[in-house]
Amino acid sequence: RAKSAGGNRFEFADAEADARAITRHGLTTALPAALERGEFFIEYQPLVHLGDGSVHGAEALVRWCHPQHGVLGPDRFIPLAENTGLIVPLGRWVLQEAVRQARFWQTRHSDGGPLRINVNLSPTQLHHPRLVADTVDVLERSGLEPGALCLEVTESALIGADDDLLKPLRQLAEMGVDIALDDFGTGYSNLANLRRLPVSVLKLDRSFTQGMQQHPADPVDLKIVEGIVSLAHSLELAVTVEGVETGAQAQQLRDLGCDTAQGWYYARPGAPDRIHSLVLADAV
Ligand code: C2E
Ligand code: MG
Ligand code: MG
Ligand code: MG
Repeated sequence: RAKSAGGNRFEFADAEADARAITRHGLTTALPAALERGEFFIEYQPLVHLGDGSVHGAEALVRWCHPQHGVLGPDRFIPLAENTGLIVPLGRWVLQEAVRQARFWQTRHSDGGPLRINVNLSPTQLHHPRLVADTVDVLERSGLEPGALCLEVTESALIGADDDLLKPLRQLAEMGVDIALDDFGTGYSNLANLRRLPVSVLKLDRSFTQGMQQHPADPVDLKIVEGIVSLAHSLELAVTVEGVETGAQAQQLRDLGCDTAQGWYYARPGAPDRIHSLVLADAV
């Protein structure tokens, strides 16, 4: 049908799909060497207390500095690394690097600072038998206390999780590592199910924050966020909001009782020094 309606457009769309598939294939095969050559780097985005805007910690966000394509965001290559299993060594590198960085920030602040580091885990990493051992090893070698690390797991990765999957997360939580439920509200998890999960933080997905954009904000969105926050707090979970882009959103979310926030309004992801100067700015 598309062909008879407009041959050119069809061929164009087709060629585009081909190009995407070729790039995907190229990126996939280039991944292992990229890790060996050190083409990955981490940007850090601050997490702030909504109350006073002080820095609570930072999330590590991986990027790939590709020799031909330039800097690629994680959405371009994490799914490929997931499919090929390269996510395991890549994820281990991110964890090690981010934890080392966090320890470095702490030692540079005279008070040892409560600065925390958040690292994303993908489902394959979650299923990997060495998750606990690797994490313990990374923490011990860096000297970072487990309580300063927060591992972010998406809600969808834990949907229908059985005890075998939850056991390593429970072990980590017992050691003091925080587990955050990332992109919360986008999955289909049963809220009552939250009680079963060893999580201590809910990261409310950016889509909720976007709902606060309008003036006045959508009253239904407000009610939903209000309900989630009150449920989370009654389960003793902290609530972080993602994607705060304006002061009005920050105000709204603060009024709704959210605890911490992350977004362009505060800072875009950036080089590690940026976090250091933000923390120092707080201290004076
Ligand atoms: P995420 O964990 O939900 O991270 C938040 C994403 O929102 C980041 O995108 C961040 O740059 C972006 N963001 C932050 N503030 C704002 C804002 O105010 N407005 C908007 N529009 N966006 C904002 P990024 O860096 O592209 O990362 C995308 C996803 O890739 C992450 O989502 C995470 O799921 C995944 N990812 C990143 N690093 C890693 C990693 O080391 N390992 C694994 N497994 N996944 C990672
Ligand atoms: Mg995250
Ligand atoms: Mg998130
Ligand atoms: Mg998100």
